[in-house]
Amino acid sequence: MTNQVGGLTGALAEWRALLGDRRVSDEVDAAVRYGANAIGATRRIPAALRPGTREEVQELVRVAARWRVPLYPVSTGRNWGYGAANPVVDGCVVVDLSGMDRVVEFDRELGLVTVEPGVTQGGLAEFLEREGLPFLVPVHGGGPGCSLLGNAMERGYGITPHADHFGALTTLEAVLPDGSMYHGALASLGGGLVDRAFKWGVGPYLDGIFSQGGYGIVTRATFALAPVPEHLEVFFFTVPAEEGLERAVLAVREVQRRLPGLVGSTNLMNARRMLSMVAPYPSDRVPAGQTMPRELVASLAGGLQIGAWTGLGAIYGTRRTAAAARGAVKEALRGVASRSVFLSSTEASWASRVAGWLPEALRPREARYVGLLQGALQILGGRPSNVALRLAYWRGGRLPEGNTPLDPARDGCGILWYAPLVPLLPDRVRTYVGGVEATCLEHGIEPLITLTSLSDRCFDSTVPVLYDPADAAMADRARACYRALFEGGRAEGFVPYRAGIDSMGWYTGSGGPSWALAARIKRAVDPHGIIAPGRYVPTEVAGGGGEGGGT
Ligand SMILES: Cc1cc2nc3c(=O)[nH]c(=O)nc-3n(C[C@H](O)[C@H](O)[C@H](O)COP(=O)(O)OP(=O)(O)OC[C@H]3O[C@@H](n4cnc5c(N)ncnc54)[C@H](O)[C@@H]3O)c2cc1C
Repeated sequence: MTNQVGGLTGALAEWRALLGDRRVSDEVDAAVRYGANAIGATRRIPAALRPGTREEVQELVRVAARWRVPLYPVSTGRNWGYGAANPVVDGCVVVDLSGMDRVVEFDRELGLVTVEPGVTQGGLAEFLEREGLPFLVPVHGGGPGCSLLGNAMERGYGITPHADHFGALTTLEAVLPDGSMYHGALASLGGGLVDRAFKWGVGPYLDGIFSQGGYGIVTRATFALAPVPEHLEVFFFTVPAEEGLERAVLAVREVQRRLPGLVGSTNLMNARRMLSMVAPYPSDRVPAGQTMPRELVASLAGGLQIGAWTGLGAIYGTRRTAAAARGAVKEALRGVASRSVFLSSTEASWASRVAGWLPEALRPREARYVGLLQGALQILGGRPSNVALRLAYWRGGRLPEGNTPLDPARDGCGILWYAPLVPLLPDRVRTYVGGVEATCLEHGIEPLITLTSLSDRCFDSTVPVLYDPADAAMADRARACYRALFEGGRAEGFVPYRAGIDSMGWYTGSGGPSWALAARIKRAVDPHGIIAPGRYVPTEVAGGGGEGGGT
């Protein structure tokens, strides 16, 4: 790497003069603040910087360029399951942008919000509520403390109408590795408003290189928000037996195809994944080093009336269009689902309706379900919630007391996200599910599978490889399982849409013209590898450093 000790010392002196001592961390403080993660990675972070303005970012980048010290920008650094705030390679100074947390502009007629990197889901929700603005936060399972912009930089997604978060980003500005600014071409031509209203600009589409690519530090971005619908209705359905999966896939495809814009993404979750949300892990009934035996899964799921697969989706529309959509969803689910329930957010008796839906045997446990379903309704209704984040604590970690926000990295959880794309074809889904189950079971890791429809063509599946970091043998099995999932999936054509810091090299080292071009662009824009070396770009041609990180 380029950051010789002398370079770092000189740069630190200039950064302290620029930001003051309190906004510069030395190596010890940086390790405490930014080193924790839930994937078992270790990185040497020589320092950290906390700028408050775009101009400070420009200046600190110029210092880094002068002294050849690589930087790693994070918005809120809650990239849990992928490495949290840790850089891809050793020796990068973390640039924490969470203090830049202004909602810069809101166009209430067009539903466009321009935010700095530190604006979180929770922060935007408060802003919308305070200002009385009828728009949905593009929420996801990471919870209220995650940055909108940071999530979009990883091309993350949720299940609200604007599920694809980079898709909802219309324009951005970034500080380039020499400290100069990047803006879209429409803005440079005087079309500031159309630049915010229209995603693709004019000329080469360059905003894209800043997501999953270390070409600059994004200091601002505009997002199109979905309006609060007149009517929101959440639906759940149960696919009783494993053989029903293929037909459920066809039903999801039908719903996505027939009701675009009315039905958001639909989730299909297997029984173990559902159990992870509604029941504690039955450690005392699982032999050491193994997973829940099939009979145990069957009896726990049976007792809770959980089928082989559970579907979850939402209808957004007017009362009339929602009623028509409900009919179409029910029709698609005929013969597929043994039970389904449609719940509107406006129903005051919502919780009691859920309770009514639950079978008699479940009533004592209904509170847990109601909490889960209410959390799902909250997320689907564009309000940030911690409900999905609790998953990270199922096999390890300590849930914090009281109102302390959840933080899987700080709380000692172990989670590696495997998130491959799977075509929305029944036989491909069956092959995929079979492969994941076999691989996980072989490694003594619970196969927790979700399939989220990104369109009527493609699912993204998310499999949290959960483990207890305090159990070294389990942690080893989890890492081996993660690698085997990647390789096994790749052999079948299922490739993740996103990579963690320890697995980035599996992608960028795989060869091919796309990575070669990414590296050439990197070399041209950032010849000294100042911004996020190794992030989705092969490291050996762009700034040095070890492939896939310094562990
Ligand atoms: C239980 C659980 C559920 C989750 N559910 C979801 C989910 O539903 N959907 C989902 O997408 N994720 C999910 N996550 C993963 C993750 O927590 C989120 O994606 C989270 O939003 C990422 O962290 P962040 O927002 O703080 O982004 P950051 O960590 O700040 O950013 C992510 C990366 O983007 C780059 N970056 C960030 N900001 C900038 C910038 N300003 N300029 C240049 N590059 C930048 C950096 O490389 C950084 O490492 C989940 C995690 C857990 C544990």
